[in-house]
Amino acid sequence: LGKEEQDVLEAIERENVDFVRLQFTDITGTVKNVSIPAHQVEKAFDEGIWFDGSSIEGFARIQESDMRLEPDPSTFAVLPWRSNGETASARLICDVVNTDGTPFSGGPRQVLKRVLDRADQMGYTVSIGPEPEFFLFEKDDDGNATTIPHDSGGYFDLAPKDMASDVRREVIFTLEQMGFEIEASHHEVADGQHEINFKYDDALSAADNIATFRAVVRAVAEQNDIHATFMPKPISAINGSGMHCHMSLFDEDGNAFADSDDEFNLSETAYKFMGGILNHAEAFTAITNPTVNSYKRLVPGYEAPVYVAWSGVNRSALLRVPDAAGASSRFEIRSPDPSCNPYLALAVVISAGLEGIENDADPGEPVREDIYEFDDEKLDDYGITMLPASLSEAVDALQTDEVITEALGEHVVEKFTTVKTAEYDDYKTYVSGWEKERYLEKF
Ligand code: GLU
Ligand code: MG
Ligand code: MG
Repeated sequence: LGKEEQDVLEAIERENVDFVRLQFTDITGTVKNVSIPAHQVEKAFDEGIWFDGSSIEGFARIQESDMRLEPDPSTFAVLPWRSNGETASARLICDVVNTDGTPFSGGPRQVLKRVLDRADQMGYTVSIGPEPEFFLFEKDDDGNATTIPHDSGGYFDLAPKDMASDVRREVIFTLEQMGFEIEASHHEVADGQHEINFKYDDALSAADNIATFRAVVRAVAEQNDIHATFMPKPISAINGSGMHCHMSLFDEDGNAFADSDDEFNLSETAYKFMGGILNHAEAFTAITNPTVNSYKRLVPGYEAPVYVAWSGVNRSALLRVPDAAGASSRFEIRSPDPSCNPYLALAVVISAGLEGIENDADPGEPVREDIYEFDDEKLDDYGITMLPASLSEAVDALQTDEVITEALGEHVVEKFTTVKTAEYDDYKTYVSGWEKERYLEKF
């Protein structure tokens, strides 16, 4: 075993860890766990842990179902909410490997690693600062989730008003115990809505962190008997939850996006990268916004992007450049939502940007007005297109883009398309409450 692996075994001893969860995500972004007794960890490092890939959404077919988990020692963390002072549980994030020891091309973490290798060959490391938003909702008497905001201060609300900020504090405290550096946390625009920003990190760690973050928020909320959700648009007609990602590239000279002579403090490299993202945005939206519900967030009026454009301050654009310079020169992509698979989402956005650098993509002029106010003619004049309007449009757009499908690999594109087409078909034939309210008595 290497030094990192030894350190993990020592930490297990020191912290009285009795069980270790081996974690990975399926292609829809759901975190999967295989729990092993701590004394098996050495073996797991040595030869991996076998599991049945055919039972995981989007992984293997029945006839080739044996797969192996290889824990990444750098991801070891004790789970504070599973620790009682005497014994503790910990987790290790894993790569998925085929029977013959080769990396499984359909594993989301592997897909991201492949894209980051390409960035590395071009001389860059990719920095990502995610800003996941979420809602805290009441549970009903049976313990089921409602959409009643936890801190609405509503008419019959007897809960103390600051309960939600207590939960948020507990979330932050737990994350810090797990090694997160929290930059900011605040109540969002909507009742019950919160945002916690953690410090930017290299893209692979950022994706690991997002997966961990969602688990922590859910676990802490659960312990407080409230429901946390990362559903993109849980309530109509108010803001939904996004997961903006701040992005920059670093090379040996520092931030490759910085240029203090530019109005937005951005370099040529940054503009090309942004150009690449704008060129492939329609195609990668299926991945960054992968649910039927995602498209109910991407509508005008709620600070979510609808238009493929960039801007300095305006929140209606897909890319926004915050007022920052030097080492912090960056832009944020505003379309991703927290229901995405973070590994796949970062993989597609980054590969779009890298392609932009390779082919000198041009993001065009910044839009300085509120695009929500534009009519069709003005959108046309500015050459602004729209993001897909539904999951079905998005899945269609995905198929047409070679840069994005190549980044994902054939396996993921095929499985993802199958799963998401079925999801949309199911939705399409479902008769909703809205329809019944509207038509049942009218006709
Ligand atoms: N909640 C908004 C969204 O759907 C974003 C609000 C903000 O700018 O932080 O993306
Ligand atoms: Mg926000
Ligand atoms: Mg933001």
